[in-house]
Amino acid sequence: MKTHYDVVIIGSGMGGLVAANILAREGRSVCILEKNNQFGGNLQTFVRERTIFDTGVHYIGGLSKGQNLYRYFEYLDILEGLEFKQLNKNGFDIITFDNDEMEYPHAQGYDNFTKQLVEKFPEEEAAIKSYCAKLQEICQKFPLYNLEEGKPYGNDAEIFQQSAKNYIDSVTTNEKLRAVLAGSNLLYAGDPDKTPVYVHALSCNSYIESAYRCADGGSQITKLLIRRLKENGGDAFKHQEVVGIECVDKQIVSVKTKNGDVISGDLFISNIEPKHTLKMVGEEHFRKSYNTRIQHLESTISAFSIHIVLKPKTFKYLNKNYYHFKDHRKIWNAHEYSEESWPETYMLSMGVRKNQGDWGDQLTAITDMRYEEVAQLQNTFNTVANKNERGQTYKQFKAHKAELFVQELEKKFPNIRACIQNIHTSTPLSYRDYIGCNKGSMYGYVKDVNDPLKAFISARTKIPNLYFTGQSLNMHGILGVTISGVVTCSEILGGEYLINKIAKGDIKAETI
Ligand SMILES: Cc1cc2nc3c(=O)[nH]c(=O)nc-3n(C[C@H](O)[C@H](O)[C@H](O)COP(=O)(O)OP(=O)(O)OC[C@H]3O[C@@H](n4cnc5c(N)ncnc54)[C@H](O)[C@@H]3O)c2cc1C
Repeated sequence: MKTHYDVVIIGSGMGGLVAANILAREGRSVCILEKNNQFGGNLQTFVRERTIFDTGVHYIGGLSKGQNLYRYFEYLDILEGLEFKQLNKNGFDIITFDNDEMEYPHAQGYDNFTKQLVEKFPEEEAAIKSYCAKLQEICQKFPLYNLEEGKPYGNDAEIFQQSAKNYIDSVTTNEKLRAVLAGSNLLYAGDPDKTPVYVHALSCNSYIESAYRCADGGSQITKLLIRRLKENGGDAFKHQEVVGIECVDKQIVSVKTKNGDVISGDLFISNIEPKHTLKMVGEEHFRKSYNTRIQHLESTISAFSIHIVLKPKTFKYLNKNYYHFKDHRKIWNAHEYSEESWPETYMLSMGVRKNQGDWGDQLTAITDMRYEEVAQLQNTFNTVANKNERGQTYKQFKAHKAELFVQELEKKFPNIRACIQNIHTSTPLSYRDYIGCNKGSMYGYVKDVNDPLKAFISARTKIPNLYFTGQSLNMHGILGVTISGVVTCSEILGGEYLINKIAKGDIKAETI
């Protein structure tokens, strides 16, 4: 490892990988330091009983030719090596409820989305059309979402101050349709009083445009980004947890890793939680008000997931996701579960293989879980890079929760128990330890209509050579953090310069 780089990036999540690639292509010497055994953060995959599972990326939107993520991936030069499978066009997400046999689809393409839902709600065509128009109108207000130069956020106060729930409630009085339109709100940890309508719009629009799974897991994206980084002269190191960031005369000079390595640089980009970053730099180097604001930001809820290895040839591969709720009147409040009512909702998704046949080999189901449920073990730490047992009580807790979860799945998939070879679980502690996120939070900080500016974190900090990138900065999700990498690099390279290159595709221009 060299001891000095132009740019040192802490964390190899998608945001960090995108920023690293952009800057390496611009001729900077770049180094990524990752604490884990695997690069990619939420893009990491893991294998149980020779079966591949995803950690935090089950489907990706905007990937059809010419769409936003496709164009960003085209610029990053990773499209060719990636294999995607498009989810069912007439229903990539299926919204279902207890005591209702009907399956309500979210379809790809706005006309098709409308058509499929009007079949279920013939009286509601006008409402569904106006909802679709609104989503597209909101997304137009975010320049980088459309690969145009401009601020990362649009200027329209209304979309920051109106809640997603209020907006959807205003579209129709039909309670079922309201629940169906908001049915994938686990995607952004929807809260009835806080989640702004733009968060709903940016998340849902991307999948309505097109929805894909990454064959053999999201780590395919990581591998290609690391390969391209190295082709452009960059370095990336695993097992390099940054434990200290040294600030001298209002400049970051170096980072120190757990192994005792010291790496100096001209610029530093943190792809990890801003809360942790500020603590490592030393809070005295920032304004008190800034520190207080960041340290008091509320994190989105964490998750409990079951990863099921299926017995061979017992359960058909489902080319769609299920979002299920016990009660359609409580879809915005499922995270307020009690011990008795948990889990009130789940998202179920199956991994796809490059040679996918009729039968599935695995499925993952995710539901909300508050960090407090496992907080008594918060002083334990366990990853592949740093193995530790959390003890028998934890094992029993996980087994009990997994059993409750399977009982819930059985209502919708009555034969599922017979198909299970084995169940593996992830708790808020798993997410905390593998990703480094505060309290295992799924999507970074809560965006709140009551205080829209509070959770806006600029890529720039008061320390001129320290930047942020990743889901705390911008929108979460693969598209959101790809844009966060672009936002961060725009601060360094100039927004107009960079977006012109991305929009025009500099590789092609250079080779003509
Ligand atoms: C359960 C779940 C399901 C999801 N499903 C989807 C989905 O289907 N589609 C989608 O688009 N998005 C999904 N997301 C969201 C998406 O995965 C994330 O928003 C995105 O990947 C976050 O990227 P990031 O750049 O912020 O980095 P992160 O993924 O947060 O990675 C940060 C990296 O920094 C490393 N790190 C932390 N501390 C240190 C340190 N001190 N030193 C060195 N390295 C460090 C971590 O190990 C990690 O590799 C999901 C998230 C979760 C939790």
